[in-house]
Amino acid sequence: MQHHEVHRRWERRIVSPAMILLLALPVGHALARCGGSPDSTARRSVSWAARTMGTYVRITMATDDSIAMSPEAGRALAVFHRVDSLMSNWTATSEVARINREAGGAPTRVQPEVGVVLEASLRLWRQSGGAFDITVEPLVRAWGFIGGPRRVPSDDEIRAALARVGAQRIHYDPPTRSLRFDDRGVSIDLGGIAKGYAVDVAAESLKAHGVKDALVDLSGNMVAIGSPSGATGWRIGIRDPRDRIPYLARLAITGEAISTSGQYEQFVARDGRTYGHIIDPRTGRPSEGLISVTVVSPSAMECDGWDTPLFVMGPLEAKRKAHELDHVAAVLIQPAAGGVDTMWVEETLRDRLILEPAARSFIQVRYF
Ligand code: ADP
Ligand code: MG
Repeated sequence: MQHHEVHRRWERRIVSPAMILLLALPVGHALARCGGSPDSTARRSVSWAARTMGTYVRITMATDDSIAMSPEAGRALAVFHRVDSLMSNWTATSEVARINREAGGAPTRVQPEVGVVLEASLRLWRQSGGAFDITVEPLVRAWGFIGGPRRVPSDDEIRAALARVGAQRIHYDPPTRSLRFDDRGVSIDLGGIAKGYAVDVAAESLKAHGVKDALVDLSGNMVAIGSPSGATGWRIGIRDPRDRIPYLARLAITGEAISTSGQYEQFVARDGRTYGHIIDPRTGRPSEGLISVTVVSPSAMECDGWDTPLFVMGPLEAKRKAHELDHVAAVLIQPAAGGVDTMWVEETLRDRLILEPAARSFIQVRYF
């Protein structure tokens, strides 16, 4: 009997007493330093946080009136609860769970927001040559990333799950929002893209209600609106996938979205190996070759959507694809066994990326 160890480092770290305090809203937060310009003396960074979509969301605003901003923050937080109830892959009561039960039998009409994410998912499937595929659900479940517990499935289990995978088996008609699967074995998982969608909608809600300077962050899926006081943009840290220091580098972001996905946040460890939660739909196994993918793009859904297939593609193909897509800029971290990892930074981000001095000894930066 082999020993299975299940890790969820991100959650272990984040569920701290400090985090519980954060839930008492609002709280000041040091994410962005205030002050700087003379007319910004009254402005501070204020955060609102909530547990949602299997993780935490935090909305930070640079404001001089946190009371007046509370309803706007509340409206934006409600977006996450709504998208969670529609697209969660963990509950039997979500709209996606209903779709998975019904769409293999007869065509079913889906909720408009699910329709938007479905259309984007199918476009990504085509554009990524199948590396992004929402029909990976049976595989994600076999590895225990849905439903749990995390485990390494047998070759037979992987083969059986693989036989149910392939987005060509999904038929979606946008005008009627009608969805049909080829058979009952097909199941969808929107976990690789739904968070980004929710972040976009929450950011739109903030902007529509006059919020000028805010950062929406759902576990690494972010939209930056305006800037903190006295700054020209929000400085977003790229986490060290090996946890030696908090951040390897920072990127200045304003009026756009960024996401970072790592094989470090959710993984199964066995026999000295770790298996991440992003699965190659062609092999049925967790992708290897990269340990962190950051995407910058105008929309959080594009960022979240693309970080997953870039992982699957691996360094060479991911660089090619990021170049090809005008609206996607990427930072990829390629591991070196026992050596110095490489951070591949797309040329368009060169001037905006600042490497932490402490990272110089274990990261080499290269541009593509
Ligand atoms: P997170 O922010 O949770 O790290 P990611 O954007 O990295 O999310 O997506 C990972 C999730 O996407 C997995 O937990 C799984 O639900 C789903 N997934 C895994 N592999 C694929 C794939 N090849 N295509 C589409 N979705 C995937
Ligand atoms: Mg993703």
